[in-house]
Amino acid sequence: MLKDLPRHKGLRNQLVATLKAKGIKNKKVLEAIANVPRHLFMDSGFIDFAYQDKPFPIAADQTISQPYTVAFQTELLEVEPGSKVLEIGTGSGYQTAILMELNAIVYSIERQKELYDKAKKFLPKVGYVPKKLIFGDGYLGLEEESPFDRIIVTAGAPFVPNPLLSQLKIGGKLVIPVGEDVQKMTVFTRKGEKEFDKKEYGDFRFVPMLKNSVK
Ligand code: SAH
Repeated sequence: MLKDLPRHKGLRNQLVATLKAKGIKNKKVLEAIANVPRHLFMDSGFIDFAYQDKPFPIAADQTISQPYTVAFQTELLEVEPGSKVLEIGTGSGYQTAILMELNAIVYSIERQKELYDKAKKFLPKVGYVPKKLIFGDGYLGLEEESPFDRIIVTAGAPFVPNPLLSQLKIGGKLVIPVGEDVQKMTVFTRKGEKEFDKKEYGDFRFVPMLKNSVK
């Protein structure tokens, strides 16, 4: 039962107004939020809450990020149509869908088999077919498909994994929440072979980025 009704669209428009009030400006990002049926990415028990600006549980003790966080990170990522994007932490696939609304070519890695399997089945059902979904460890990035224009990490990283920096194109950007309990949203722009520009934004709380893949 994958229904997206005018009522849902209405609730999404309200959510967009909330995100604008909180400072999200990029029109394409707001349009993407208005288009992706977030309620379908959540377990049925939470559907009534889908358009509140809150994170919610998905399977395997993970969460679908708060819409504001998704919008904020996506805005920082500055995706262009055709950008080759690597996402770490597929989770529900919601952020994946937002990136695809922006016409990015998306590769996404998830370390939990249950979530990987679920997203792989679900995303095409709602019209989003990523270039590649990978079951694996995001700390390693995806060497064989690198370099990427953009890399986005959607779990809290205790440190910045080197492979993610080295798999960026020159001019490419990595958006990553860095920290243990609280994370600073951090943007790295690759200026040259060994030269990176680093900017820090606000504090966020993500589920932790963990090592090794799990069945
Ligand atoms: N982008 C997701 C957010 C999910 S929460 C969404 O929109 O729903 C973060 C996700 O990162 C979880 O699904 C978690 O299992 C995954 N994760 C944690 N550590 C990881 C790692 N090392 N590699 C890949 N995914 C990881």
